[in-house]
Amino acid sequence: MSLLAEDTEAADLGLRWKPGFAALGPAFFTELRPTPLPDPYWVGRSEAVARELGLPTDWHESKATLAALTGSMPVAGARPIATVYSGHQFGVWAGQLGDGRAIMLGETEGGLEVQLKGAGRTPYSRGGDGRAVLRSSIREFLCSEAMHGLGIPTTRALCVTGSDAPVYREEIESAAVVTRVAPSFVRFGHFEHFAANQRDEELRALADYVIDRYYPACRTTDRFGGNAYAAFLEAVSERTAALLAQWQAVGFCHGVMNTDNMSILGLTIDYGPFQFLDGFDPRHICNHSDTQGRYAFNQQPNVAYWNLFCLAQALLPLIGDQEVAVAALESYKTVFPNEFEGRMRAKLGLTEAAEGDRPLIEGVLKLLAAGKVDYTIFWRRLSGYMTDGNVEPVRDLFLDRAGFDAWLLSFSQRHAGTDRALAAELMRRSNPKFVLRNHLGQQAIEASQQKDHSGVATLLALLQTPFEEHPGADAYAGFPPDWASTIEISCSS
Ligand code: AMP
Ligand code: MG
Repeated sequence: MSLLAEDTEAADLGLRWKPGFAALGPAFFTELRPTPLPDPYWVGRSEAVARELGLPTDWHESKATLAALTGSMPVAGARPIATVYSGHQFGVWAGQLGDGRAIMLGETEGGLEVQLKGAGRTPYSRGGDGRAVLRSSIREFLCSEAMHGLGIPTTRALCVTGSDAPVYREEIESAAVVTRVAPSFVRFGHFEHFAANQRDEELRALADYVIDRYYPACRTTDRFGGNAYAAFLEAVSERTAALLAQWQAVGFCHGVMNTDNMSILGLTIDYGPFQFLDGFDPRHICNHSDTQGRYAFNQQPNVAYWNLFCLAQALLPLIGDQEVAVAALESYKTVFPNEFEGRMRAKLGLTEAAEGDRPLIEGVLKLLAAGKVDYTIFWRRLSGYMTDGNVEPVRDLFLDRAGFDAWLLSFSQRHAGTDRALAAELMRRSNPKFVLRNHLGQQAIEASQQKDHSGVATLLALLQTPFEEHPGADAYAGFPPDWASTIEISCSS
């Protein structure tokens, strides 16, 4: 019997729910309720996600909706669950983890799962309090929508709601809940969980569910002698490769690429100590807790591959042959560099591949690294140069002028005969003016902590359309202030 049968009062979000993941049965989750938070308030909302969900236009006007999305009132027709998964954290098997603070309301008829992150303890909370603090919730909300604006696959966020209930971290902070939305929140770690516990039946049920729902082409594949599970692994691997290419091209550092933070759909998931690079430093470590630099920016593509190996290991009982499993990962080694080169070529305004593109790309990255040149500003200014022919704003970014001039010469030669206006247009669509830099998030967070949430809305609007000029918003596209480098972001959230 559903827990909800006992409810006398529930918020009707105007959504229809279907069983979705819950149809897999109780081995995969625990049914439970969010733990209420007192006196919730709105911190940020994404109307774009509201539209995607099919919420009524006045959705945010209802007190009941505000309460429901903070976990303080049940949602009509929903059957909340927390799912179980395991995973490798920082390269070490961590055993059972699970949704320790994310509670899934269910799946909408439109095929989107809705989760409340920070909605209270679950059987998988281990020592944790089941809560999320305001600062990390604002970061997750803004970055989800920023990534989507950049065209990078990601879980989405409908809103952040806050409550002044105290949450104990290094200091006392206030609580918040992010309403996250994705076609599926299944992680590599879900598969690892059932494999590690030798529960092959559940492992197969999970794989069948994910394949049928999200990778149906694997059923009719002729790859690997028609082995659907191997084809599935290959498809996940290729989506992951494409995702990593986008992260590397835009200068995004995830910070905690544990296997439980790897989406089976190749989405960016679980925003913690992430960072968009300011000055370009390939070895940048954005997670203050990552003392070894396991998840440094330039390690990400290899770590993703390592994580895919963990997934392959977990799927082995289904694939049935180790050689086939290894073969299914093989294409990562070509898909990642091809996708990366394609993204970088677009940043350079090049529509077609040519001999010599790789050294051109490597050359500019080397120069950027040597001068720790601001990554986002460089690319946007280079787009400006393509538009107006004025090279000085780009050149000014480099101390090594001779090095830059030499690179620019090869760049110009590569562009000989191309349509400059078309190239400039491609560059403006490939090089964002606005990314969620740490200091921008920090300023919005500090205002929100003082109950001024306008900064969150302002940033959201810029980040949802980051390739637009947004006249008047140049302050959000400038160099980071000196204090930005002192911001320390750890796993504490
Ligand atoms: P993360 O590194 O944030 O992806 O979290 C790793 C694991 O710790 C997941 O199982 C989370 O659900 C759990 N977790 C993180 N923070 C909390 C918390 N405050 N309360 C309960 N569980 C948590
Ligand atoms: Mg996580």
